[in-house]
Amino acid sequence: MDCLFCKIINREIPSDIIYEDEHVVVFKDISPQAPGHVLLLPKKHIGTLMDIKPEDAQIFGHIFKILPEVATMIGGDEGFRLVANCYESAGQSVFHIHFHLLAGRNFGWPPG
Ligand code: AMP
Ligand code: ZN
Repeated sequence: MDCLFCKIINREIPSDIIYEDEHVVVFKDISPQAPGHVLLLPKKHIGTLMDIKPEDAQIFGHIFKILPEVATMIGGDEGFRLVANCYESAGQSVFHIHFHLLAGRNFGWPPG
C-alpha cells in the first residue's frame, strides 16, 4: 500500500521514533509546530477517523492508555495539545490516522 506512514512503520522511510509497541508507533513530526511535536498512530492502516470500525476500539483505547507516558516524554507535564485532523478541509494531509501531540509552548484557542 502506498502510504507514507505505513512505510515509516515498516522502516522503509526513516523517522525519529520515540515510542513503539505492538499496536502503536510514535515519531517526531518532520515539521514541528511546537518544541515537542510527535505523531501517535495505530500500526493498523486506517485512513481517517471516519473509517474507524467497532473492532478498532481496543487500539484507540490503547493509544489513550499510553498517552500520559508519551506526553511526559515530550515535556508535556505542564500541558499539551492533542489534535486529529479529519479530511482535507480540516488539514489532514496523510491518510493514515494520526494524533498530533504538541507540547513545550502555550497554545491559543480557537485553533485556526
Ligand atoms: P496532517 O496534515 O494532520 O495529516 O499531519 C501530517 C503530518 O505529518 C504533518 O504535520 C507533517 O509535518 C508530518 N509529516 C509528513 N511527512 C513526514 C515524515 N516523513 N516524517 C515525519 N512527519 C511527517
Ligand atoms: Zn498506512
